Amino acid sequence: MTAQTPFPSASLLGYPRIGRRRELKKAVEAFWAGRTDAAALEATAREIRLGTARRLQDLGLTEPAAVPGTFSYYDQVLDVAAHVGAVPARFGNLLDGEGRLGLDGYFTLARGSKDQQPLEMTKWFDTNYHYLVPEIGPETDFSLTSERIVEEFSEARSAGIETRPYLVGPVTFLLLSKPSDEAPAGFEPLSRLEDLLPVYVELLGKLAEAGAGWVQLDEPALVVEQDLDAAALQAAVERSYQVLAAAGSRPRILVSTPYGALGDLLPTLAASSIDALHLDLFKGAVPSADQLAALEGKTLVAGVVDGHNIWRNDLQASANKLAELRRSVPSLAVSTSTSTQHVPHDVDEETKLSEQLRSWLAFADQKAVEVATLAKALQDPAAVQAELDKASAVIASRASAAGVRRAEVRERTAALTAADFAREDFAVRQAAQDAALALPPLPTTTIGSFPQTSDVRLARARANRGELTAAQYEQLMKDEIKRVVDLQEELGFDVLVHGEPERNDMVQYFAENLDGFDVTEHGWVQSYGSRCTRPSILWGDVTRPAPITVAWAEYAQSLTSKPLKGMLTGPVTILAWSFVRDDQPLGETANQVALALRDEIADLEAAGIKVIQVDEPALRELLPLRKADQPAYLDWSVNSFRLATAGAASGTQIHTHLCYSEFGAIIDAIDGLDADVTSIEAARSRMEVVNDLESHGFGRGVGPGVYDIHSPRVPAQREVRELLETAVAHVPARQLWVNPDCGLKTRGYEETVESLRNLVEATKEVRAALVADAR
Ligand code: GLN
Ligand code: ZN
Repeated sequence: MTAQTPFPSASLLGYPRIGRRRELKKAVEAFWAGRTDAAALEATAREIRLGTARRLQDLGLTEPAAVPGTFSYYDQVLDVAAHVGAVPARFGNLLDGEGRLGLDGYFTLARGSKDQQPLEMTKWFDTNYHYLVPEIGPETDFSLTSERIVEEFSEARSAGIETRPYLVGPVTFLLLSKPSDEAPAGFEPLSRLEDLLPVYVELLGKLAEAGAGWVQLDEPALVVEQDLDAAALQAAVERSYQVLAAAGSRPRILVSTPYGALGDLLPTLAASSIDALHLDLFKGAVPSADQLAALEGKTLVAGVVDGHNIWRNDLQASANKLAELRRSVPSLAVSTSTSTQHVPHDVDEETKLSEQLRSWLAFADQKAVEVATLAKALQDPAAVQAELDKASAVIASRASAAGVRRAEVRERTAALTAADFAREDFAVRQAAQDAALALPPLPTTTIGSFPQTSDVRLARARANRGELTAAQYEQLMKDEIKRVVDLQEELGFDVLVHGEPERNDMVQYFAENLDGFDVTEHGWVQSYGSRCTRPSILWGDVTRPAPITVAWAEYAQSLTSKPLKGMLTGPVTILAWSFVRDDQPLGETANQVALALRDEIADLEAAGIKVIQVDEPALRELLPLRKADQPAYLDWSVNSFRLATAGAASGTQIHTHLCYSEFGAIIDAIDGLDADVTSIEAARSRMEVVNDLESHGFGRGVGPGVYDIHSPRVPAQREVRELLETAVAHVPARQLWVNPDCGLKTRGYEETVESLRNLVEATKEVRAALVADAR
């Protein structure tokens, strides 16, 4: 190894890998569909990798190892599984004759096959990124099954760029894994650490041989609470880095710890023989001078630039922080707090945003420039003082810019009292709603969206391109709404929806219609695999210039004598799926969104809408990692929902929808929402959720989904009936609603109609049995 290569003074912890125009998404999907071969996919991937490396060099990350080798065809956790042979037994056929896992096998782990369930997917720390969960058991045969990261290093090197190979570290890898199907009860993947480490050692040897000066081992699991005792975790960290640092031949090792403060494990890593330690100093506080002194001989990679949100860095404040750190740490380098994979590529692509808003933002490319500038500030402050001053000026201008703080919004939130967050007692509401709605027992409804046909999407695209007038577009949407309403009438639903054809996305649609938000053109970020989202930017105080959904709902209601359910996205979900302002607590922003929704609800009521659903599928998702932070979150999130809905009259029935079935964990919060009816996912877990409902004594309306819309499978009438019978056995029939699991937007019409018909017919059977029982 090149023992003396210093850690680059400026680097990013990671970079988006989907490509500036989502080239990887397109290439991977073409490969999956069999339209192109592996060679074409690999060529695109290579272009993305080299393009990234050259771009980052141009932006100022010129030192060896400054460019992170964080490309992935699908996911960084899956990448480790693919390198170390963590292939579950049910995929035993995936390794080739030489014991290697090729691209096809890699994608099969991610996506499954006809007969093989894919790896499970779950949220990566407190981000909207999802990783694949490795399955580890006593039978897992760790060995080097891929050298892709070595090949990618060599590829860049031949192009004249020395990158810094990246791997999720061994402790995080095992902590994020789950026991395999073959593992005995109580088995912990971390117990396989000793067998895993030699494969990392072997891989480090290969990297050194290829000429890598540095490697980055990412250990974010060390910043969050684990269900493991502290001593065992510490021992695992100590042992891992003892073994890896002792490798005969290896690059220098950077351990990175993004997404929060490292806390108690800092001394353990400081005492190890690794060469550099990265700390998240954006979210985490600066460690004490004693703790920093323990880093002696190592480089501290200070993650002072936020990798997770899109705001321009306060360079002067960061430079001051770095100057302060420099006093205790002689060897200091600058980086981002997390990988920039969570933000889009480049603000300069957003030519439709105002120049003012653009000046406040920093996407991945701007963050590269920021770290380079801060590294220069450490060497020669005078040389970059003008850039620091410019950032300070922009940040100051942001604070006083029109729309950031609106007096009328501030006055309204300041005047809120407890009464604004509370409705009448449920018993009173229930009586009023019974009288207003006259619904049969086990009322049937859907979650909101109906299949978005290609005609609907084409109409929207044409309207956006100016090929359709507003009036033409409106007529097409009305035609679609009429089709959807007629279909529900024909099927026999009790509470109807308009089907949401006019919405491109349940958050972006509201962002486009509220002030305080902007939407980007190219701001895609990877959610998982080839799936990307384009979060809106919530930058200012939120107001509602005009009613948003009312005309559509009113039109739909005019077509039927059954109650039509108005459909809104809740404040927490709007925040969770946007980039949010960083200049005030989230709870304040949530209340502003809530007030806009409250006004929308009042307008819906005035238009004769008697049932209104406020979706909060992201309520669970934003739950903080640290238990200590959870009560405060649940408090503001629940309150914002209540603020949005508590203005509704007692006779107006408020529904909410949540997209998951791990209900137990936050059932008190769900109860706290005080919705009249809550629909949740349940079909896949075979109604397990009703046990939680029963033991909690959940007292209001509830619709555990009886049709799994995440799969094209049509549930048989008998299957729906059995699920309903299970529900009736645990939850009083008076409270039960019948609905699918989630919105039908991604489904095709044929399977949807059949499934919904079975749902309604099964309900009739169960209803008849209830009536017979009652006699
Ligand atoms: N009302 C939305 C729909 O039906 C809810 C979607 C969701 O929960 N993610 O599409
Ligand atoms: Zn849902």
